Amino acid sequence: MLRFDDLQLGAALLAAIRDAGYASPTAIQAKAIPLILSGRDVLGCAQTGTGKTAAFVLPLVQRLAASASRRSGARPLRTLVLSPTRELATQIAEAFASFGTPFGLETTAVYGGVSDVPQRRALRRGADVLVATPGRLEDLMSAGEVDLRRVEAVVLDEADRMLDAGFVASVRRILSRVPAQRQTLLFSATMPAEIRSLARSVQRDAAEVEVAPVATPAEKVEQEVLFVARGDKRALLSHLLADPAVKRALVFTRTKRGADRVAKHLCAGERAEAIHGNRSQAQRERALASFKRGSTRVLVATDLAARGIDVDDISHVINYELPDDCESYVHRIGRTGRAAASGIALSLCDAGERDQLRRIERLMRRAIPVRREHPFVSAAGTADHARTHAPRGATRTQASTGRARERVGHARRVQQGRA
Ligand code: AMP
Repeated sequence: MLRFDDLQLGAALLAAIRDAGYASPTAIQAKAIPLILSGRDVLGCAQTGTGKTAAFVLPLVQRLAASASRRSGARPLRTLVLSPTRELATQIAEAFASFGTPFGLETTAVYGGVSDVPQRRALRRGADVLVATPGRLEDLMSAGEVDLRRVEAVVLDEADRMLDAGFVASVRRILSRVPAQRQTLLFSATMPAEIRSLARSVQRDAAEVEVAPVATPAEKVEQEVLFVARGDKRALLSHLLADPAVKRALVFTRTKRGADRVAKHLCAGERAEAIHGNRSQAQRERALASFKRGSTRVLVATDLAARGIDVDDISHVINYELPDDCESYVHRIGRTGRAAASGIALSLCDAGERDQLRRIERLMRRAIPVRREHPFVSAAGTADHARTHAPRGATRTQASTGRARERVGHARRVQQGRA
């Protein structure tokens, strides 16, 4: 696996990446960071949740820091990021602030729906990076508050959503005010013809990078999340496994030690085994063979160890802990519902895992139904989730198993050409 150390990032940035808790680069980061560092234009096809923000923020921070302006007076804008929404603009600005501040870089964000007075003030103070929604940026440009003549790099993020919002003409007008000699990065979850044509007209010799849309294999899998206090997770797991519908279950933990502990706990009641990187090849093979045969009903695994598991009729995937990166969630639940069978994926979520859950839902563009009835419900979590939790672009699904079954049935009919 590629490491951040292999990507030609400087020591200070590597330290900031470690502080952010990123263990290794995501696929889009591994592909895009070296290209952006080399100054190439990049056309990236990647969804939210794949780590695409850091894929452009990290190399741009490094390039900005390498040629920091030492002139006195207000600093010129050198990087411009255009975003379709205020929420995304804020997230991007936060990423630039957290990785760029140690290098003395200033970031400011401008977007509609709020007073422009503080935004004008911030622009006058000067910033290296401006993150903007196109409408508000054009207003501020007309008011003479923005000078883009020193911009060296432009990012168009979630370009397909800018298309949906009718921003493309505005984007073209803004770019006509930025020097032609610049680096242009364009990211989009989908690549319709209009985006390709925009890319062709604003980029030069762009390198294309793509990460497979990971949010698809979940269609046949019925997913539920169960809010529970951390200390009740083991008891809840035993309760779930007591259901005779659980024919063969794969339980995921985040760490190797966690896998051992959970397997040991379960072994008190039945045969369960753990597989992870600290066990010998022979031990792993034995555990896997016994799981395939059906002599072990429950296998506890870490993400890495699970990659080699190719077992068709896993009825349940249980996320004892949510994974740190969202793509792993999709890979995990894809272990069930294989080969036209439907499957069930249950996630135990404690208070500390709420942000992860939110990111996963954002990646999949759908909310995961909450199972509200189980013996260890953590009431605060459920109520809070219901109130605050409507991921962007998500279709709210009911927790009703009936409806989920209908969807599974429908997916199967579609697959067999009968829908
Ligand atoms: P994005 O696709 O940019 O919206 O990022 C999704 C989430 O993944 C954000 O909360 C990031 O902080 C997080 N993230 C980005 N890169 C990594 C990484 N290499 N390892 C772990 N998490 C990451």
